[in-house]
Amino acid sequence: MAKRARREAKTELPDLSRYGRLAEYNRKRHFAVTPEPPGRATERAPGHPREFVIQKHRASHLHYDFRLEHRGVMLSWAVPKGPSPDPAVKRLAMATEPHPLDYNQFEGVIPEGEYGGGTVMIWDRGVWAPVAGDKLGDDADLDRQLAKGELKFVLLGKKLAGSWTLVRTRGERQWLLIKHKDEHVSTDDITVANPRSVVSGRTMAAIARAAGASERQLAQAVGADPVTEGTAAKAVSRPIARARSRPSRRAAGS
Ligand code: MN
Repeated sequence: MAKRARREAKTELPDLSRYGRLAEYNRKRHFAVTPEPPGRATERAPGHPREFVIQKHRASHLHYDFRLEHRGVMLSWAVPKGPSPDPAVKRLAMATEPHPLDYNQFEGVIPEGEYGGGTVMIWDRGVWAPVAGDKLGDDADLDRQLAKGELKFVLLGKKLAGSWTLVRTRGERQWLLIKHKDEHVSTDDITVANPRSVVSGRTMAAIARAAGASERQLAQAVGADPVTEGTAAKAVSRPIARARSRPSRRAAGS
């Protein structure tokens, strides 16, 4: 019985090569125009800690790109509302094309008219590991979890830490990012309480300004910073600013 289950589990392993390809990433971008790095898969020594990065991105809509290193690329999800450290808050996470590891260093502005045009901030960064049962998992565990559509993992970043899950809910692309109960849970809206870049300490507006963003992109970057970060904070009393930024308790999709 156990032997049979093992054999079945093995034959059910899907072709995950698409997760290791950067063709889609490269196809969408013009590297003569965008400051983003060209896509090439990176070879890593076995046992090297896996990187994770979360990039706040004011493109056509504000979202947070959640990226986990796996087999030489960054698996990526776009999280419109950003991660929540509150286990009661499930955040929609749309799977997007894998990105190169070099992308983890990118903070700046993608020009107008280019794919994802707008300001990008390195909102959090650190290392992560898959969890299988009650211990840390390996690449094969992660392949199985991707196929199943249920990732269990731990993050060790500057803003986020502890155990999390990503659960696929519909089709290939729609997932939910959920904090698992542990000592790192919080009901604070971390996107408002802790909005700045973990590498430069800058706001979205400061990144946009330094990179020579267009007027429209600069205005959008300013709008993507919490009101407490801008001059608007002086005109808005603190309790009102708090109320405006209260996290939604509705499930994702909203
Ligand atoms: Mn993005």
